[in-house]
Order: sequence, then C-alpha cells, then structure tokens
Amino acid sequence: MEDIEIYHLAGQVLGDLTHDLSDGIYAQLGGELSIKWRAEKIFGAFASSLGESDKPPKHSITVYYEFVRQVWRDAEDFCKFLRGIPEGSGVDKLYDFYDDRVKLPTCFNDEEHVKNMFVAAITWVYFHEIGHLMQEHGVIRDEFEPSDGGAKQTNDVHDFEASQAKLIVGREALVSHVTELAADFEATNFNVIELLRHVRDSDFVDDEARTEVFSGLVYLMVCGLSLVFFRFNGNRPILPTAVVEGSHPNPLTRLEIIVPQIFESLDGSMARRVAGYDVDRRQLVLLCAKAAFSATLYWSMTKPRTTSLTIASCSRTSSPTQSFCNTSSRS
Ligand SMILES: [Zn+2]
Repeated sequence: MEDIEIYHLAGQVLGDLTHDLSDGIYAQLGGELSIKWRAEKIFGAFASSLGESDKPPKHSITVYYEFVRQVWRDAEDFCKFLRGIPEGSGVDKLYDFYDDRVKLPTCFNDEEHVKNMFVAAITWVYFHEIGHLMQEHGVIRDEFEPSDGGAKQTNDVHDFEASQAKLIVGREALVSHVTELAADFEATNFNVIELLRHVRDSDFVDDEARTEVFSGLVYLMVCGLSLVFFRFNGNRPILPTAVVEGSHPNPLTRLEIIVPQIFESLDGSMARRVAGYDVDRRQLVLLCAKAAFSATLYWSMTKPRTTSLTIASCSRTSSPTQSFCNTSSRS
C-alpha cells in the first residue's frame, strides 16, 4: 500500500471514531472533540484539553502522519518475518509451547493481516489519548511537574517515541507512568468493546466462522499493540529497569498489564454471551501470549540495539481492536 493510501485509511478510521464520539457523549455533555493531523516526521500522537477541567470538555487529539505510516510498515515487516521462519527450525519449534506453530491466522489473507493489525493499533492509540483526556491527565501532571509560572492555554499529554520525548525522573516520571498505565487501561477496555461489537455483528461474520475470526482478530490486535509499544520505546532496552524513569513504562511492563486485562475481559461471561465465541480460557490465554511472543521475537531478532531475546516475559496475553476487515469469504 502506498503511503497516501495509509493516510487515507487512518483518516477514515479515526475520523469516524471522532465523529461518533463528538456526536455522542461529547454532545451530551455540551462539549466537543476534534482530531488534527501533523506532517512532522514524528512517531506519536498527543491529547489536548483546551478548556477547564470542571467545564464541558473541549478536547482535541493530534496524530502525526508518520505515526500511522510506521505502524503500517511495522505490521508489514512483522508479517514478512513470521512467514519467513523456516519450518522445523529452532525458532519454529518455540511455538510448540502454544500448542501449534501457526503464526498468522489462516482465516485472513496477507493484506488483511496487516490491515487488521494496523486498525487495531491506531485505534488503540487513539483511545489511549481519549483516556488521557477523559481523566484529565494534563491537570494531574501539572500538579507534579516544574512550572515556568506562565499561563497555560492547554493541558497537553504527549505520546512520542522515546527519542522525541524528554527524559524525566523521580516523582514526575512516576506520575507520568501511572497516568500512562491508566490511559492504557481505558484504551484496552475500549478496544475490547469494539472487538466484541464487531464479532457479534452477523453482517460482519456468520455463526459458523465467528470463533475462528474472533481468535484471528484477538491475535492480530495483540500483535499490533505489542509492536506499537516496542516502536514507542525506540532504542531503549526492552528489559524493565529497577528505577522508574522516562515518560512511559517499558513495553514489557505495559504488556504484562494489558494482556491479562484482555484475556480476562474476553473470558468474562458477559463478553461470551454478547459475542458468542467458543474459545475456552486456556485457548484465550495461549492465543494472547503467542501474539505477544511473536511480536517480542520479531523485535528482538530484527532490532539488534534493543536486547537479545527476551521472550515475552509477559505471561500470556494479547488483545485486539476495532473496525476489522473480515473475510467471510473464507472457503
Ligand atoms: Zn500516553
């Protein structure tokens, strides 16, 4: 896919979400939500709260074109890597731990693998920014960050690749990590709801294919989120450190928290009743863990500066997201 097509797809997906939210909860509160795009070569997005925290919300999310372009390219490269693992090799055999060596869901074709991962990942990041805004993290951080004494026009919360973000330490870093994890929770929750909404739709997938498509989407969602975490981490080591520093938690730390959040949510009786998939708890856990494993394997083996193999210490999890493209046309 050409870059311009990636921008168009992202604009459509995130524009629709913004429209729905703006006409829904924001309109009910007398507030507004907008989305903006920027052309700088920055892998990131940020959230701006333009009004006062006790007034109707005036929120804005800004996304960099470079961010969506890179998410797509990472997904493409990741799929190519997985398809290139030689059958019967040592790496291939590592997958035996997850019951089978299937590395990409067979119910989707090559383009759908990338597209579903892409949509899941950019949607998750969008919801992460919504999480910052809904919880007014800009206001919370202001209480702990050094102030220059000037009047602020907005409360911004930035999510940039580590190389673009300033290195913070101490209490400021701690507050930043806590608010990032809180936004992660919101985003993951929204993504799971979106996934269930799609899977339950009989126009999207019929009863016969539901469980397989559901499993495929969950797997690709967790892969997509994992890749975004690694990319945001930049050249920093992916092994967690003993001291909290920097603006964002380590990618493995984030995965250790959201992967269980995903499989626990999907294992709930309400989710099962709503979406009607037939995947037991063990399968859910292994599915999510395999996805996080695949992404960690890819990042460890192709980005030499990060670290040597740290096979997803995140127990076993993964997650999915919204606006999936389905292939009901599976044979
Ligand atoms: Zn954030």
